[in-house]
Amino acid sequence: MVFNELINRQYLTNDFMEEFNRLKTGVSGFILFLGLDKKAYIGTSPLSYIISYCNKSSIYDYDPTDIGYLNSKEISCPIHLVLPSRFDDTLAPYNKESMALTLFVPYMNEAFWQERKEEIANKLIVRASDVVSGLSKTIIVRNIVTPVSLKKYTSNKNGSTHGWAPLISQVGHFVVKQKSFIDKLFFVGQWVTLRSGESGLPVAAYTGKLGAKLILKERLNK
Ligand SMILES: Cc1cc2nc3c(=O)[nH]c(=O)nc-3n(C[C@H](O)[C@H](O)[C@H](O)COP(=O)(O)OP(=O)(O)OC[C@H]3O[C@@H](n4cnc5c(N)ncnc54)[C@H](O)[C@@H]3O)c2cc1C
Repeated sequence: MVFNELINRQYLTNDFMEEFNRLKTGVSGFILFLGLDKKAYIGTSPLSYIISYCNKSSIYDYDPTDIGYLNSKEISCPIHLVLPSRFDDTLAPYNKESMALTLFVPYMNEAFWQERKEEIANKLIVRASDVVSGLSKTIIVRNIVTPVSLKKYTSNKNGSTHGWAPLISQVGHFVVKQKSFIDKLFFVGQWVTLRSGESGLPVAAYTGKLGAKLILKERLNK
């Protein structure tokens, strides 16, 4: 948005804009939020804030940018299961549970998700039942968040959850630098291109610290 909408085009070279517009965004998310009428029973699985698991023998065939994996009868890719109310009991009524099931998916348009979202949500429940026994019988609230909703509520390009895709061609290729080529314009957050690649909140927060240092350094040198 900054380069394409907020900065007057006269300050941007064609070379830069071409390079910038070539950057690929990372995957988006499909999230099923559930409210359960009792605490989820996860058997002997270790209790943690997030359980990521895959029922495939190898996850190396998994490509979250390929929508094809959602077409099989059963979802057999890694899913992320989170129980927020297990760690903060204000997040659900007494003895009830909140749960979120997430899949990383490519951005597809609204029509695609309207047609497919219920079916994908049902498959997610089947897969999560591997870990939470009797899950489907305890669901009293069900809300689906698609990449289109993520785009709408985060303003992230293509509903990306973590910014640019961590591709070898993009990691260490510094297109969006913290100190920009425009005087007094600094960037922080997940859209800064970093040597480490983009990795969510911790790295976004770290760029805040680095950005503050860069601004202080510039001021002190004046
Ligand atoms: C569903 C989901 C789950 C995630 N889970 C995890 C996780 O488990 N762990 C993890 O580390 N990361 C996770 N992430 C990624 C993490 O949330 C982001 O990497 C991080 O929030 C990026 O921080 P940011 O400051 O760059 O951007 P944001 O947190 O998006 O902040 C940008 C802010 O700018 C505001 N803004 C936008 N445009 C304008 C404008 N024109 N004027 C004024 N304000 C504006 C927005 O309202 C927003 O408040 C998740 C992301 C999503 C979407």
